[in-house]
Amino acid sequence: MASEGNKAPAIGIDLGTTYSCVAVWHNNRVEIIPNDQGNRITPSCVAFTEYGRLVGDAAKNQTDMNPTNTVFAIKRLIGRNFSDTSVQNDIKHWPFKVVSGPMDRPKIVVSYRGVEKQFYAEEISSMVLVKMKETAETYLDCTVKNAVITVPAYFNNSQRQATKNAGAIAGLNVMHIMDEPTAGAIAYGFDKITKEADEKNVLVFDLGGGTFDVSLLSIRHGNFEVKATAGDTHLGGEDFDDRLVDHCVREFKTKYNKDIKGNARSLRRLRSACERAKRILSSSTRAIVEVDYLYDGIDFSTRISQARFEELNMDLFTRCTNLIEQCLNDAKIDERMVDVVVLVGGSTRIPRVQQLVQDFFEGKELSKGINPDEAVAYGAAIQAINLNGQGSVEMQNIVLVDVTPLSLGIGTQGKRMTVVVPRNTPIPTKKKYTFTTIANELTSVTISIYEGENAENKYNNLLGKFALHGIDPAPKGVPYIDVYFDIDADGILNVSAQDRSSGHKNEIVISKHNGHLTPEEIQLMVEEAALYKAGDQEHKARGSLENYAYKVKAMAKDPGVSPSKNKSMENAAENVIAWLDTNRHAGIDEINERQRELETILQSVMKLKRGEIP
Ligand code: AMP
Repeated sequence: MASEGNKAPAIGIDLGTTYSCVAVWHNNRVEIIPNDQGNRITPSCVAFTEYGRLVGDAAKNQTDMNPTNTVFAIKRLIGRNFSDTSVQNDIKHWPFKVVSGPMDRPKIVVSYRGVEKQFYAEEISSMVLVKMKETAETYLDCTVKNAVITVPAYFNNSQRQATKNAGAIAGLNVMHIMDEPTAGAIAYGFDKITKEADEKNVLVFDLGGGTFDVSLLSIRHGNFEVKATAGDTHLGGEDFDDRLVDHCVREFKTKYNKDIKGNARSLRRLRSACERAKRILSSSTRAIVEVDYLYDGIDFSTRISQARFEELNMDLFTRCTNLIEQCLNDAKIDERMVDVVVLVGGSTRIPRVQQLVQDFFEGKELSKGINPDEAVAYGAAIQAINLNGQGSVEMQNIVLVDVTPLSLGIGTQGKRMTVVVPRNTPIPTKKKYTFTTIANELTSVTISIYEGENAENKYNNLLGKFALHGIDPAPKGVPYIDVYFDIDADGILNVSAQDRSSGHKNEIVISKHNGHLTPEEIQLMVEEAALYKAGDQEHKARGSLENYAYKVKAMAKDPGVSPSKNKSMENAAENVIAWLDTNRHAGIDEINERQRELETILQSVMKLKRGEIP
């Protein structure tokens, strides 16, 4: 293969809410890698069936038949708690079951080969990542280990760490967790970086399936410096679909006095129809949502106009423009100083969204030159090859400066959060905060770490707590305790504290103490992933044995085959089909054995030589 300089290539993966995309630097350019169906984007969808597991297009295509075991939009769950309001709202729209696991971590419940199984969001995401890894491996004809995975810029510490863990479970070496808008900016700016000497302010508006980000970057030569970022990790195409679904459910109730809300299959079929209508409304003023036998044998059909769709979603669209304003304020520039506005993410195809962005920038032409579905993976592939020490000289000169999207600080005096690292601070970074005791003779303190923008702790996200013991007893206000916040280039935080007089130290990697996976748990999941892979192989072998048996049956009908031979072949094929039916969980060795038996029978009946067996 295909590696540059004999080193295995590194890939860029856009792990999206609805679709994922993988790209690689190959033949001196970025190539978006098509999957086994020839598609350049792969549904981020995993299905569990009676026989095995399906990922990507195969999973999405059987959704309507198997809604409760088809898992999608998992990016909305990753790194969140079960009790989060957004998780509770999403669960209402999902046909698959989500329950509360240990430490309030959500677990997805499915039936796999007739047995109930529970998975963390990281495990489901890892299955999508494995699919993307294998897509790249097939294309490049070599093993791929190194990858850059993108996340929304507005993903918090837990969501980033959980995504990194999903990569580890998938057997990837995650070189960098990269912000999606930054990747989009590289895709936009890559071929321009050597050509344009002037600094340009580029605003990336990234509205995907589940998340919205807006980032303001200054680009000059190979330097991509994020000045500010804003966003909402729960705003995207899925929400527009939800609004349409709710509208249709109401209409169905008014027309037929029946509520389809509790019926997973009806809801799933309606959702697919709504998503299709939404896409049509990007290029047409009207669309029809149509589902035969939607519920209780009733066919459903309704017309939706573009204006109606916009009205249903206007508050969500406006939220996007409000966030542009916040981003520009944080970057301390006004809209006239923005040179280029780049659209990224499938939902930026919605005409009203484009219009609102254009109006915000007083009629400025929007840059749509890059494919919104592929731009993020494209940028990630450039960063991947760059970190892998390959690629052209100009690529290796690319410098990225990202920022931390949310303020980080410590809880002081019970209720308040003292900000140590303000939002939009360039990363990596290390900051120190010194505090003292509030009571006499204290020998230990508990330090609580928060993330968020509110002055009061309770409205922010508690990342973790840790205790520092062994402080030399002293009157209040005398000890000095230094707390260090260390954020790496992936935006992941480590905190340590030290008492100056005793020299006692303690530190935490926040992610490990916030209900997220431990290295031991990740290792266990890596081992389980191997078992699921074996299950997939069984599923594949079963499919090919079944095909083979039907082929033998068809051959038996050939007029050139004598009646006696015809009977033996048909019987042998029928036996295999019946065996497959009654041995649903047969292992791969047994399946292969049956395949060999059938081949032998065919060989002796047809007097074929080994190499001639079809
Ligand atoms: P992404 O996460 O960037 O792949 O975006 C996927 C989202 O874009 C999904 O919610 C799609 O329904 C949405 N999308 C894709 N094409 C269109 C379109 N033509 N009009 C409206 N939404 C679209």
